[in-house]
Amino acid sequence: MLRAAFPGSFDPPTLGHINIIQRAARIFDELVVIVAENPNKNYLFTAAERISAMQALVDGQKNVRVALCTGLIVDFLEQQRIPLLLRGVRGEGDFAYEFEISMMNKALNRSIETVFMTTDPEYTVIRSSAIKEVASFGGDVSAMVPPLVSEALKRKFAARQIDKTDTSC
Ligand code: ADP
Repeated sequence: MLRAAFPGSFDPPTLGHINIIQRAARIFDELVVIVAENPNKNYLFTAAERISAMQALVDGQKNVRVALCTGLIVDFLEQQRIPLLLRGVRGEGDFAYEFEISMMNKALNRSIETVFMTTDPEYTVIRSSAIKEVASFGGDVSAMVPPLVSEALKRKFAARQIDKTDTSC
């Protein structure tokens, strides 16, 4: 039984993430998508919102489940007896960053192996941070995220606009 975990912020989930999940689910017997909650990061969506979006997106994929991790990813993998940590790579920039993280994780836990999966070409430029920025200006991101995420972004930024109006009164 080959089990792997795919951790990330997923703030929000994109078609790039879904592509990695679908391809990995064909390779591994079980894939655990870990929604990470790091108190040092500022998220647009709460952990509960990111988990419920991800659960809806993987619904129907029998060997994929979603979990929350509020601590170190390698500790979570050790507890769950998952030996493989999967990360997606869009290009050289990602690889440099991911390589460093994988070395840090190796220093923390020698038994967990990081494996990289390259993105499919059409998802190279898709990243959550850029999507949030475009959506915050009312830009159309529907080609980059699943419809439920596109709607959630619209609601989130509409609510923020109302908040701003309230505070400026
Ligand atoms: P983090 O906040 O942990 O960097 P993200 O939520 O941005 O995580 O991404 C989670 C994982 O998905 C990372 O390994 C990231 O490189 C990968 N990823 C993000 N976008 C894409 C994409 N378009 N194609 C392939 N992998 C991606």
